[in-house]
Amino acid sequence: MQYNIALLKGDGIGPEIVDSAVAVLERIGAKFGHDFRFTPYLIGGCAIDAVGMPLPQETVDGCLASDSVLLGAVGGPKWDHLSGEQRPEKALLGIRAALGLYTNLRPAKLFPALRGASPLRADLVSAGFDIMIVRELTGGIYFGDRGYRTGRYGEEAFDTEAYSVHEIERIGRAAFEIAMKRSRRLTSVDKANVLETSRLWRKTMHRLAEEYPEVAYQDLFVDNAAMQLVRNPQQFDVIVTSNMFGDILSDEASQLTGSIGMLASASLGETTRGMYEPIHGSAPDIAGQNKANPIATILSAAMMLRYAFGLTDEAKCIEDAVDAVLAAGFRTADLIGDSDAACCSCTEMTAEILKAIG
Ligand code: NAD
Repeated sequence: MQYNIALLKGDGIGPEIVDSAVAVLERIGAKFGHDFRFTPYLIGGCAIDAVGMPLPQETVDGCLASDSVLLGAVGGPKWDHLSGEQRPEKALLGIRAALGLYTNLRPAKLFPALRGASPLRADLVSAGFDIMIVRELTGGIYFGDRGYRTGRYGEEAFDTEAYSVHEIERIGRAAFEIAMKRSRRLTSVDKANVLETSRLWRKTMHRLAEEYPEVAYQDLFVDNAAMQLVRNPQQFDVIVTSNMFGDILSDEASQLTGSIGMLASASLGETTRGMYEPIHGSAPDIAGQNKANPIATILSAAMMLRYAFGLTDEAKCIEDAVDAVLAAGFRTADLIGDSDAACCSCTEMTAEILKAIG
């Protein structure tokens, strides 16, 4: 089977980590008999340098014509002087909007070999955890009416949150479908004791839950969820929540796993295409030095196989290889911290993962 993948390498460490993920996908293709074809497109600062804009139309068209999209990262000090609309980061919002990506998946998985890197006490993480946070990405308070006005005490600012049944239903359905592919446990996080949008969210989720009797469903208030995440992360499997709650809870959960260089993500819409990228940025401080941890991008490629192409065994093969390499003690610099222990480069880590895939 042939799969056409648009590559948006971007800036900083983007080209290094995307090259690592491509090497892994090629190895998976050879092992399982798939034909992955890659077409690079410009995005971010490199696009500004080449054609004067962060998101050329050719990039949008190329992504729309592809079966899936793999993104590195964009931005860097070279373009920091530019105004908002012209900045490399503007391309991220543009490509998400152009591809209609309203579901953001951020898995927070603690690899057994990295238990010591978690800020949680050893007894809390001894059994590990593997949480999938499903965050609504294109609605809620980040997109509601906002502004300034004169209030009772003079100048005041306001932001409003609105969610339609349609928006809640489509993110809710995505979360139930993901729960069905995992251990069939779903927690919906809201603030229904205070917010009207959360009450509609909860009512809509309950209606959807009736369609998925196989899924063990529970509601949790967001303040309780934030506490439960650090008290006992193992209790969660899939969490679905609104844009702002998901933004905050996913950062909290990600930090429980250790390094930012480990965390993959997927942004999904109505089609299976999606866009897959590490959650970290372009790391200009280590760009071009072969020091970047490629694992977040490699795990993002695994998510692409699972969610865009339905290649579950192939995705698991990548995840198992990462697990094995970490268990064997291989570490990039970010996983070692200030220790003097020997670490491997981006290409060495990639080579070990390729070896583990076989
Ligand atoms: P960053 O994530 O790029 O880096 C933060 C720290 O983490 C740095 O010390 C960096 O070296 C380290 N780091 C990040 N990824 C790593 C990896 N894979 N391996 C090893 N170490 C890694 O965040 P920042 O420094 O705040 O931002 C740098 C640039 O990236 C900015 O221009 C920012 O706007 C942009 N950015 C882009 C995205 C994106 O493209 N999705 C996301 C966040 C930030």
